[in-house]
Amino acid sequence: MAFEGLADRLQSTLQKIRGKGKLTEADVNEMMREIRLALLEADVNFKVVKDFIKRVKERAIGQEILQSLTPGQQVVKIVHDELKQLMGGEQSKIAVASKPPTVIMMVGLQGAGKTTTTGKLANHLRKQLNRKPLLVAADIYRPAAINQLQTLGKQLSLPVFSLGDKVSPVEIAKQAIEKAKEEHQDYVLIDTAGRLHIDEELMQELVDVKEAVKPDEIYLVVDAMTGQDAVNVADNFNEQLDITGVILTKLDGDTRGGAALSIREVTDKPIKFVGMGEKMDALEPFHPERMASRILGMGDVLTLIEKAQTNIDENKAKELEKKMRTASFTFDDFLEQLGNVRKMGPLDELIGMLPGANKMKGLKNVQIDEKQLVHVEAIIQSMTPKEKESPEIINASRRKRIAKGSGTTIQEVNRLIKQFDEMRKMMKQMTGMQKGKGKKKGNF
Ligand code: GDP
Repeated sequence: MAFEGLADRLQSTLQKIRGKGKLTEADVNEMMREIRLALLEADVNFKVVKDFIKRVKERAIGQEILQSLTPGQQVVKIVHDELKQLMGGEQSKIAVASKPPTVIMMVGLQGAGKTTTTGKLANHLRKQLNRKPLLVAADIYRPAAINQLQTLGKQLSLPVFSLGDKVSPVEIAKQAIEKAKEEHQDYVLIDTAGRLHIDEELMQELVDVKEAVKPDEIYLVVDAMTGQDAVNVADNFNEQLDITGVILTKLDGDTRGGAALSIREVTDKPIKFVGMGEKMDALEPFHPERMASRILGMGDVLTLIEKAQTNIDENKAKELEKKMRTASFTFDDFLEQLGNVRKMGPLDELIGMLPGANKMKGLKNVQIDEKQLVHVEAIIQSMTPKEKESPEIINASRRKRIAKGSGTTIQEVNRLIKQFDEMRKMMKQMTGMQKGKGKKKGNF
């Protein structure tokens, strides 16, 4: 999971001061030292760390903070604010040209995930924003790049424009835009050529395409797992192409998070999206505030609900929201949601979005294996309707019967009932959080 180590360290550092009624300058200094180490260990750019610490310290040592009634909480808020600023402050949305089509040039090094991301972005534009994108195969050098894009187009039922590999990328891009106009396609996504390393020839070609088509956006795709290399690549591309945004891929595999926390500050260009997996729906708009909350263990309930809304139909989503709000969730709902949740993405990632989830025993490093899920389903199906409604009536003899009926063990039945109970409690906590913003802090 992204930011795992950093999240753990920051949360335990902040935990120490959270409840303190009085903070001294020495407390703040000690805390800053720990935060500094945590950020460096997460592979955040050295200068970025230095400036970040300076800003937090200046604000934290301000008279009104140290002498306030809740200095610990105020400092937590400052760290949250500054993390949010570090990642760009507000969400940076995708451009819309005054006259369609909006042209987006996708650039990046080979292997970063450029072609995959082009497909994901087209899918996002259509599914979330109701747009009509045209994919353009302008990577004429990498063998199979054109085929790869065509395959993605087929899979997504989206049109792909290609003139093979004998026509120049500038010509392909120009003709694609004409075609989009004729066909009333409102977005054009140009998958340009990548290289293993930055070289002059590649840059010249990208500059030529840029000058010829005057794109509304130039998105650089970089691999988060390469850490500071990704930041250097971004800096370099930005210098030569003046990119408009970054898409950070493979954040699902990046446990440190250094690139995500450094890129904005180093390049002054926003992160627009993050890639969270190989599937076509594994692309999330980047929200600095939500990401800061995730890092500090406050959860990201908004993204979770958005995911639910894309994968479950609207009425069902409303029902789910109501059930969570009133905590009247039964085992029947659980069974149904299990199916839905599996469509939403890897479970460890979803759990990471729940407030305080990493503090809950049993949820941390949870590994769901499919066989176990089949057992869970069998256990629930062996319950009587009444038991599903009111799990508290399931006593020892009922547990025995359920285990026998489902072909599982009493331990498994016990574990499931306990987990279900914890889940309901967590829903209550989430509900509390959404009602009053001030209560957020209570989840540390
Ligand atoms: P390109 O050379 O930049 O066009 O790279 P590709 O689009 O061919 O992607 C390279 C590899 O990275 C492929 O195996 C993709 O499935 C994988 N990939 C791309 N984005 C992500 C992501 O967000 N998460 C993960 N786990 N894999 C990704």
